[in-house]
Amino acid sequence: MLNFTLSPALKALRQQAREFALKELLPVAWEYDQRDELPLHILHKAYDAGLVNGDIPKEYGGKGYGILEGVIATEELAAVCPGLATSIFDNSLGMEPLILSDNEAAKQKYLTTITDDRKFFAFATSEPTMGSDVSSLRCLAEPDGDDYILNGTKFWITNGGIADYVSVFATIDPKQSHKGICAFVVETDWEGVTPGRHIPKLGQRPSNTAAINLKNVRVPKENMIAPPGEGFVLAMRTFARTRPSIGAFAVGAARSAMEFAIDYAKKRRAFGSKISNFQAIQFKIAEMYQKVETSRLLIWKAAWEADNGIDPTINASISKLYATEAAFEVVDQALQVLGGYGYTRFFPVEKLLRDTRLFRIYEGTSEVQRIILAGHAMGAYRPVMPPLDDLPIHNKNDFPDVDPETADDVWRCRICGYVHFGEEAPEECPYCFFPATAFNKIEKP
Ligand SMILES: Cc1cc2nc3c(=O)[nH]c(=O)nc-3n(C[C@H](O)[C@H](O)[C@H](O)COP(=O)(O)OP(=O)(O)OC[C@H]3O[C@@H](n4cnc5c(N)ncnc54)[C@H](O)[C@@H]3O)c2cc1C
Repeated sequence: MLNFTLSPALKALRQQAREFALKELLPVAWEYDQRDELPLHILHKAYDAGLVNGDIPKEYGGKGYGILEGVIATEELAAVCPGLATSIFDNSLGMEPLILSDNEAAKQKYLTTITDDRKFFAFATSEPTMGSDVSSLRCLAEPDGDDYILNGTKFWITNGGIADYVSVFATIDPKQSHKGICAFVVETDWEGVTPGRHIPKLGQRPSNTAAINLKNVRVPKENMIAPPGEGFVLAMRTFARTRPSIGAFAVGAARSAMEFAIDYAKKRRAFGSKISNFQAIQFKIAEMYQKVETSRLLIWKAAWEADNGIDPTINASISKLYATEAAFEVVDQALQVLGGYGYTRFFPVEKLLRDTRLFRIYEGTSEVQRIILAGHAMGAYRPVMPPLDDLPIHNKNDFPDVDPETADDVWRCRICGYVHFGEEAPEECPYCFFPATAFNKIEKP
């Protein structure tokens, strides 16, 4: 049964996240964008408001939120500042591999204390020389007694400069590709862990992004959350559960850009009329609205699948791909509606444009999502229609000269589709001149 009604609890969560975003994020977002700096005190306020770590399961003392709760809250935060939303959401991304793992002791150790201790948890697959191709990561994990020794550099790590814990994906041997990949929870105050400088970016500037260098870092085996050979799958399972949230960032940002465009269009005058009276502007608004609503539906579907034990991989990719591409189009059109003012730093749309651009890159680029979807559509997807070669003839009126009662067998040329009636296939197709072997016997009309 389908039901799109939000429960009272979900509505309350949305309202709470919305109020927090408007009260705490809105007044500081542009300042920290200009400063290219993460306001750490805002992350602590998000902790105070109960908007961090919601997805810790109840058995570890958490709220036990599903992905749906996550995307509903995330949309509200990103509507105000995608960068701050990214940093607030990052704990969920960082913890997800641990939550999905079988390492009960590590779950007890980290998940039960992280909220009270207000720790930050980052996620690290990417490196300076790889991002999309996770199987080619190089960070080395060498067994040493009861420990592993990690060496390498993780790059682009959201909250990398402030994280207390990091889910680090490494390999026992880069030549083994995905078969060598394992994962660990690494504490950043361990010897040999060094965060890099904050990486300057086009957008999402209030979100911290930094490298994490690992030099002979001794990690106890108790902190392994995926043994060699299982790390790659763990990373992919993580993305399948977190990509809908990237889509939710995009919906939030697009929604705000649309609202700013509507507001501006209703006030700005040109050629003796409000520009909202021009159909060219109205159609832009209609497109924006349609894209925001469609994106949200796709995201909620993927989230619902994840929360109901259905593998969300494909719909997570669809929702991330669609929502992030649609959001950039929406923000771009909103900027157009604001004309020259849209391009200035006096209005927030230029920031949203810069912020929104990132969504098509992190957690799997648009190209990677298309690779996943093409692989599914041409692989596991089961078509309903018979293959073209086997299509029956649906309309006997197409063959007025043939009496279906007395007609012999029916043959279809696999190359050009020509249909032939007779005991045998023709020696040669009269249309494309392929030989009899090109013909398949098909169902009679
Ligand atoms: C601000 C920011 C925050 C980030 N946060 C994190 C984080 O917290 N943790 C983390 O691990 N990573 C993080 N990332 C890394 C991010 O996930 C990668 O940047 C992303 O996966 C792309 O990898 P890449 O930049 O190495 O590009 P590449 O993989 O080198 O790709 C370059 C281009 O080639 C295309 N391409 C690659 N392979 C193919 C193919 N087979 N077919 C067609 N096109 C292809 C890509 O789509 C892209 O357009 C972050 C990145 C940024 C910018």
